[in-house]
Amino acid sequence: MIGSNFEKRVENVRDFIAVRDAVAAKGGNYCRVTFQLTFMQIGLEEIPDVIRLAASLGVNRVKGHHLWVFTEEMKQENLRKDKQSIEEWNYIVEKAHEMADEYRLPSGEKVLLENIYKLEESATGELVSDGICPFLGEEAWVSAEGKFGPCCAPNEQRNKLGDFGNLKENSIHEIWTGEKYQDLCKNYLQHTVCKGCNMRKKKEELVGASC
Ligand code: SF4
Repeated sequence: MIGSNFEKRVENVRDFIAVRDAVAAKGGNYCRVTFQLTFMQIGLEEIPDVIRLAASLGVNRVKGHHLWVFTEEMKQENLRKDKQSIEEWNYIVEKAHEMADEYRLPSGEKVLLENIYKLEESATGELVSDGICPFLGEEAWVSAEGKFGPCCAPNEQRNKLGDFGNLKENSIHEIWTGEKYQDLCKNYLQHTVCKGCNMRKKKEELVGASC
């Protein structure tokens, strides 16, 4: 991020993980830590290094989503824009998995890689045909103002999915079981935003997946 001090951010992660491990060592809960990325042209070649860094710090998972392109300027960053971009992505996927094999967490386990898999040439259109939404019926996003959001799509796109209410006025149970949200859960694949969504997953990848 612009203005962010990388070394300071890494120190913060190191401090957090030291506390996490100390709590777990005393019999407390152990929490999994994730580095979350946006897959785009800039930074593509750094993904394997992010995995090595995660392993060295004790970060359990590296996860990301392909860039959601919604402006002209973003198109060049899209890794699904053409055959060559997909080939470049697929090459990095291979390197990323090699890195996860070679550099292990202090426990000896591998860093879990989520959504880092090779793409077919057809991914220039739909990322995963018949992909399933990992969020509907599972997770929700609530803004600082209390607005209920069904997923983490960019605001402009998410707003097109409908207005589901605000937790200052309705309970989460009312919204969750309400007609609007239930209708989206059942019919999201009819929705233009969901049809173009790059967060939908193959059924077999849904086990244990979360944001
Ligand atoms: S845009 Fe639709 S398919 Fe994508 S995450 Fe949101 S609800 Fe799910």
